Amino acid sequence: MIPAFDRPDATRNASPYLYGKESQAVAAVLDSGHYGHTDVTEAFERGVARFLDVPDAIAVSSGTAALHTALVAAGVGPGCEVIVPSMTFCATIQAILACGANPRFVEVDPGTLCVCPEDVLNNLSKTTTAVMPVLFGGRAVDLAPIQDLLAERHITVIEDAAHAFGSCLDSQRVGADPAVITCFSFGPIKNLTCGQGGMIVPRTPDEAQKIRDLRMLGVVESAAERATSTAYQVKTAGFRYQMSSINAAIGNAQLPHFAGTEADRKLLWRTYRDSLNHVDDVTLVDVDVDHSVPHLCVVRVPHRDQVFRHMKSQGIAVGVHYPPNHLQPAFAPWSRQLPMTEEISRQIMSLPFHQHMDGTDAHRVVTALEQALAAVGAGR
Ligand SMILES: *Cc1c(COP(=O)(O)O)cnc(C)c1O
Repeated sequence: MIPAFDRPDATRNASPYLYGKESQAVAAVLDSGHYGHTDVTEAFERGVARFLDVPDAIAVSSGTAALHTALVAAGVGPGCEVIVPSMTFCATIQAILACGANPRFVEVDPGTLCVCPEDVLNNLSKTTTAVMPVLFGGRAVDLAPIQDLLAERHITVIEDAAHAFGSCLDSQRVGADPAVITCFSFGPIKNLTCGQGGMIVPRTPDEAQKIRDLRMLGVVESAAERATSTAYQVKTAGFRYQMSSINAAIGNAQLPHFAGTEADRKLLWRTYRDSLNHVDDVTLVDVDVDHSVPHLCVVRVPHRDQVFRHMKSQGIAVGVHYPPNHLQPAFAPWSRQLPMTEEISRQIMSLPFHQHMDGTDAHRVVTALEQALAAVGAGR
């Protein structure tokens, strides 16, 4: 196959990876003339459900739409509080605001950038209705130690698993825990891409139905049923959040190759880990690579801003995931002091991480990191 763009290397922080059949799959849908939620979308839902070994999965137009819909389905609305780490993509917080609910920002463990159960417990209030752990870098978050307590208080756990498609907790894929709602993103640079898209794994068949109603403008009838009827019924408030068959076709073409995705991402992360082992002053954020399909390779470094600029000047596309949300102007009304997150946010830097990269690229990045650290006088 002739690549549509030059092979992205360490000059790109992240990149989609195509296995070769995606363009044909999209062309077939375009030729079909049906671009809405179709049997192609439903085939993708079934494919993902089979892959995760879960009874059902519901496709939506993005990861953000998945989070928003899951929150609404769980009854989260105005006056409700949702516990969420500040250390996440702003989409997580926007989904909470879209419900009219209040984010309760919490700290993360500096070693994993994930929330810990004790911290969730310490932040519960009378108005807590949901907890939204973020599976940072692909790492599963295990809230089992507090799951019973949360259930007693009717608090729903909605996982932001945008980074974690394919990752495991114990021997199950993330999404397979029937006690939680799991939301995936299939955006351009996620572990599996639809171009744009998301998926919700519901807890029960009732919840699945509620989510299916919400994602299609509250309309009860399927497109096929509407075509044969003079009327349709709008049952509830709802959103235009269905996944287009054009996007689903890309996902259908990607899914059979996921074993390759998993192997390549684990190998690249381990290559970075082994190479970084020899570098002083650098701490790798642990994604639990044996159980995860890594999405990011994040390090904590001294003099981060200088190191970042030095590496950029060498053509290495480092990034920062993420500037903390509790300090964003849009989220100021919910801001509180989170000293750990603020300290971490001055140290984190994401190394280029995508499947076009090989071991040589990773070693080049680590060499450039060593040079940057030396140039800014770290460790002295
Ligand atoms: C990508 C991402 C989202 C949003 O997914 P979209 O498909 O881009 O809407 C939410 N949370 C996290 C942590 C993400 O990385």
